[in-house]
Amino acid sequence: MIQKDTIVAIATPTGVGAIAVLRISGKRAFEVIDYTFETISKKKLKTQKGYTIHFGKITNGSLVLDEVLVSLFKAPQSYTGEDVVEVSCHGSLYIQRELLQLFLAKGCRIAEPGEFTKRAFLNGKIDLSQAEAVADLIATNSAASHKVAMQQMKKGFASDLKALRDELVDLASMVELELDFSEEDIEFADKKELGNLAERISKVLNKLIQSFESGNAMKNGIPIAIMGKPNVGKSTLLNTILNDQKAIVSHIPGTTRDAIEEQVNINGIVMRFIDTAGVRETEDEIEQIGIQRTFQEIERASVILYLFDVSCTEIKSVSKEIKSLKKQFPDKKFILVGNKYDQVDKSTQTNLSSKKKLVLISAKEKTGIELLLEKIGLLVSLLVSEEGTVVSNMRHYEALKNSKEQIVKLQEGLESGLSGDILAIDIRSTLHYLGLITGEVTTDDLLGNIFSNFCIGK
Ligand code: GDP
Repeated sequence: MIQKDTIVAIATPTGVGAIAVLRISGKRAFEVIDYTFETISKKKLKTQKGYTIHFGKITNGSLVLDEVLVSLFKAPQSYTGEDVVEVSCHGSLYIQRELLQLFLAKGCRIAEPGEFTKRAFLNGKIDLSQAEAVADLIATNSAASHKVAMQQMKKGFASDLKALRDELVDLASMVELELDFSEEDIEFADKKELGNLAERISKVLNKLIQSFESGNAMKNGIPIAIMGKPNVGKSTLLNTILNDQKAIVSHIPGTTRDAIEEQVNINGIVMRFIDTAGVRETEDEIEQIGIQRTFQEIERASVILYLFDVSCTEIKSVSKEIKSLKKQFPDKKFILVGNKYDQVDKSTQTNLSSKKKLVLISAKEKTGIELLLEKIGLLVSLLVSEEGTVVSNMRHYEALKNSKEQIVKLQEGLESGLSGDILAIDIRSTLHYLGLITGEVTTDDLLGNIFSNFCIGK
């Protein structure tokens, strides 16, 4: 599907740099550049091969604007699948602007955000999940998120789903055919085969759905909640971690919540520390609201640091609390942290250090923090070490869950011997949701939504 317009955009970030790159894609890309570009050999670029680079000058009438390098990519061997020209010029804002104006004057239109990638998708160069991975790759800020985006961009999981979807399309047409001959009681679709296929799809979907927790954690950071009674040192610990770690990514003050969230990059993995309001039994209504919010924070955390004050807390009572929390949140990983270690005498210190599962720290004196981070790192690496395909995109996750729901309906329908017309409805819905992931089913709204999040020039 070749688009009519030839588009242009500055592909490098706004500002002055050593060089800047302008990108042109479309049927008239070579023509536009030939109007303005001159090599020493005077050869027209239209006659040159793809994957070649040419040195020369860009002129506007008699005025030489810059000496540039022009890279040529011929359709369909280009990012967009169309003729593409990339002009590397000197990175002055003036030159960038002048070149852009010149290409617009020669018949290009300014590209919309993500339009190059959108064209790559529309021209079948990449599927939708790969296109989305390109945006993710540009947005990566840690080794873990980079790994997920890279993996998805290279192959993704959509190709496996597409193959299964194609099989389902074939069987669906048989079921539909049966409906046309419903009077004659003929069976075209092999129900057993349909059941087996549904089972295979279901397995793949389950695996992908399960991978979301780790995929999402790799992409967006691991949520780690710091909880404990008031005054045990939660805020002090968060500050100590943040001050120790130079690579703070951002600061997200709780706007409507009591929780403060801070992101830290530790060994290539972004960790999102959430400082929760203190938890204790209370009659105070406002405090109860804070506590409820804390439990909501815990719900979205993967790891929970349970902090207590070793100078005034019985280990036994802490163990009891942890036990009940683990019961309440069976999927969460807990780390028991004894703070204010500096406040206890030597014999208590010796006694406490014999407790293997306990991490002892002084948030104020900054002792034991390295060990705590190491322990967190170990737990987190279990979460993100999963090899193979991981789903990290919320849109995919939703579509996968919806597909799974439909497949289960289909399986139940097959088991209870439902008629073809009912089965056909479930199959159509399954095909719809699977197609939303691979991009075989798209709407303008969906594409608009996805590509508007890209930067211009990508
Ligand atoms: P939160 O309510 O759990 O967030 O507790 P804070 O971080 O506000 O700390 C409560 C008090 O305990 C403050 O006065 C801190 O200075 C103090 N504190 C925190 N950590 C330590 C520690 O490791 N040792 C000592 N001696 N005091 C601490």
